[in-house]
Amino acid sequence: MTVFQNDGFCPICEHDVTFIAYNEWLRDHYVCQSCGSVPRERAVMAVIDAYFPMWRELRIHESSPAKGGASRRLALECADYVPSQFFPGRVRGAMVDGVLCQDLEQLTFADESIDLHVTQDVMEHVFHPDQVFKEIARTLKFGGAHIFTVPIVNKLAPSERRARIDPAGNIVHLKPEQYHGNPISDRGSLVTVDWGFDICQHIFDASGLFTQILHIDDLGRGIRAEYIEVLITFKPSGFTALD
Ligand SMILES: [Zn+2]
Repeated sequence: MTVFQNDGFCPICEHDVTFIAYNEWLRDHYVCQSCGSVPRERAVMAVIDAYFPMWRELRIHESSPAKGGASRRLALECADYVPSQFFPGRVRGAMVDGVLCQDLEQLTFADESIDLHVTQDVMEHVFHPDQVFKEIARTLKFGGAHIFTVPIVNKLAPSERRARIDPAGNIVHLKPEQYHGNPISDRGSLVTVDWGFDICQHIFDASGLFTQILHIDDLGRGIRAEYIEVLITFKPSGFTALD
């Protein structure tokens, strides 16, 4: 069923295309007919292009990339694009079936070695978000940023835990289990946090870095959906106090 369709320009495949919404839940079903991308992928690419137009020359780390969308574009056009997946129980920093194993809570990258960290719908699945934000801040170069999508389902209400890990390593569910699709696991990824806009405060408390929340609503670029926000955490370079 087609809910609506429109012509526009896709920020990912950079063609004049038709976007078709197959379902009212546009976040997963408003698709570019040329590249198959969905709105949040087009939004994150548009933000990378707007704020870091030189992204092809940067060192970009993406945790848990998708097969298509912005991940595929970054992989094709950025020579120093480093994708990684978290394989529980495997050595961090090692290659597993040709894919770099990285744990966002304990990255093996050196301090100030990454220009851009990119994550797409990953931060709602981590068990120790404060540790992740710290690690991202540590490994970012000055002048770099973490550009990411995460569903901010709680909006103005405070962020809430859905699940945590107890000292023995067992998962404790604080709310009914919820899973999102995961390309490397049939079961999907457990949602650990329902984020609100106060995610920026959590990031600041963990890392000392400021985060912008960007909301794009632009049918001409096929960007319209619930939870369409793109966040940028900047690590400023050459900061000097003003007189
Ligand atoms: Zn496209």
